[in-house]
Amino acid sequence: MVSINVAQLLKAPTGETRLFTFDEGVEGFAPELVLAGPVRGQCRLMKTTRGILATCDYRAQVEVVCSRCLVDVVVPVASHLEEEFHPSVNIRTGEWIPETEEDQGLRIDEHNVLDLDDLIRQDILVNIPLRPLCREACQGLCPNCGQNRNTGACRCMAEEEPQLGRLGEVLERERQRKERGA
Ligand SMILES: [Zn+2]
Ligand SMILES: [Zn+2]
Repeated sequence: MVSINVAQLLKAPTGETRLFTFDEGVEGFAPELVLAGPVRGQCRLMKTTRGILATCDYRAQVEVVCSRCLVDVVVPVASHLEEEFHPSVNIRTGEWIPETEEDQGLRIDEHNVLDLDDLIRQDILVNIPLRPLCREACQGLCPNCGQNRNTGACRCMAEEEPQLGRLGEVLERERQRKERGA
């Protein structure tokens, strides 16, 4: 989990900062994603008048499927996040602070733990290309036999040509006949 106890920072004066790095293993971090490597990054936490501003940079590698040929592809994701988290309890009195719309769900929990997992997971999802490609010039699959055209031409191509050739001949004869008729 990319989380940190910010009790001390919440008591600090506005503008105080704290840095931390993280290196999350592949296991369990994001069940909806297939990670091909750890999620690594660093965050700077700054005490603000309302809470804590988290500024993070991270890198991840996500395994996806090529949208044309369906082979597995590892897509690198590098991103920058900046969000303000608000406390859910008053650090001095321990009093519960009701959630408001301004919080946008970004709340530091009642144990003063700031958890960045959800934010990073959502950000990774947003940064994965909608139609990933294994390579720019991916030839895709043959719609007829399903052969991966990147690994070689299939028999469909070889069979199509003579058919087109015959059609060409028919059209050519038709054209010549019309010419003679005219
Ligand atoms: Zn492909
Ligand atoms: Zn084919």
